[in-house]
Amino acid sequence: MNQPYKRYLPLVFGLTASLCLGTKAVAQTSFDLPLPNSSLQAQLPPSAQPLQLRNVQVSADGFVLQINGMPQMSTSRVANPDRIILDLQATEVAPWIHNSLVAVNRNGVKQIRVAQFQKSPAIARLVFDLDSNSPASWQSSFDQARGLLILRPVGIAGTTNNPSSLPVTGSPPANSSSSTTVDGLSFNGYGQLVIQASRAISYRGSLDLATNTYSLTIPTTRISSQLRRPVLGANSPIEQIRLNQVGDAVVVSVKAIAGWQIREAIRTNPQAIALQLTSVGQVTASSPKNQQSQIQPNYGANNGRQLIVIDPGHGGPDVGATRNGIYEKDIVLAISKQLGRILQQMGYSVMYTRTEDIDLDLEPRVQMAENARATAFVSVHVNSLDASASQVNGVETYHAPGASLGKNLAEFVHQQIIASTGATDRGVRSARFYVIRKTSMPSILVETGYITNPSEASRLVNGNYQERLATAIAQGIDQFLKSYRR
Ligand code: ZN
Repeated sequence: MNQPYKRYLPLVFGLTASLCLGTKAVAQTSFDLPLPNSSLQAQLPPSAQPLQLRNVQVSADGFVLQINGMPQMSTSRVANPDRIILDLQATEVAPWIHNSLVAVNRNGVKQIRVAQFQKSPAIARLVFDLDSNSPASWQSSFDQARGLLILRPVGIAGTTNNPSSLPVTGSPPANSSSSTTVDGLSFNGYGQLVIQASRAISYRGSLDLATNTYSLTIPTTRISSQLRRPVLGANSPIEQIRLNQVGDAVVVSVKAIAGWQIREAIRTNPQAIALQLTSVGQVTASSPKNQQSQIQPNYGANNGRQLIVIDPGHGGPDVGATRNGIYEKDIVLAISKQLGRILQQMGYSVMYTRTEDIDLDLEPRVQMAENARATAFVSVHVNSLDASASQVNGVETYHAPGASLGKNLAEFVHQQIIASTGATDRGVRSARFYVIRKTSMPSILVETGYITNPSEASRLVNGNYQERLATAIAQGIDQFLKSYRR
């Protein structure tokens, strides 16, 4: 697979084709944003409502995005087919343009695909499918008065593929050479609060147990005038976030509510600091599964859309079941992403416990579903046995003991999987797996097959088979939820 080369540079970002596109001669792309107007920015509230992308149009000389604020953006360029992916952070896509396609056929762009890539935190994704004539550089500007983000190609691709000749367009941002800025705080969907800076930063952290407040001091930085902050909902485990400029340092204080703990997550990005939020209270002990027959699926939350939490098992150093260099963690992530995409097409909201190869404890997986008040929870796994039992194959679908709704959901999903894949039916079963036992909504764990069975393993790594599994799981969830809506 092509791994997109990606970086987050809030004011100027560009990327050089030579870094990820091998020998293919393509133009470099850069997005240069204008000088921030400090007097105008100073009048803007620091924490606005979530941004909403309302329209994408083709103009005479570029593209116009209707959006109620300047989003933080990131780009990546991916080959085969050649495309630019533009992500607008903390931006919702209006439902009428979600999954839409804008035909262009000019300025080196064939078409633009628009979608809500991720719900929480919201990321709007625009994919620009390019032709061989793609421009050397793009310039973007934001018209605050009209709420329009304007993208204009600057010159059409020449013959050069030399990174040193990356075109410079527009003026550099005011702080590009003077100082590093703290640009935003956001939740990343793994129960982490991420502090994003314009450049690599160092920091010192300390936890005050008396006030349950974690404080970070980041030397030689400033608070960006365009700072983005998350909206703290009523159910947020964070009570307060404060930023203060203390001399030439920025001090960030994050206060958690009782029962929650803040700790530093492993750093993977020198420009960001992630704080992991973990529940240390008596998690869901008050909602035993055997009372679940009285609990109806949650239809009320999430603005009327039902939210499915998808939990790809394992991740990071925990590879799960493995055989011949194939890892469970990779198979279940691929199936889960397909499942999410299909559920979204069906009209459901989707949240993933992980979308990358990261280590994640069981408890935050449960907590994520609880905090989001998910309608249903599905954990995706692959099974294994000893080499002596390599003949064993097939699908098992689990629910927690005594969970009548969970059992019902498991039956719908299992039936779909068996009918659709023709896999060996190893039955709907009850087991005390943590993630299905501790979640209070209807929850299942699907063991999609045995990696230790050679022919099943070869199916499980096949994209078409993964999609078939995902489709079947989605249909089972949909049938279950519809059966309760009547
Ligand atoms: Zn597993």
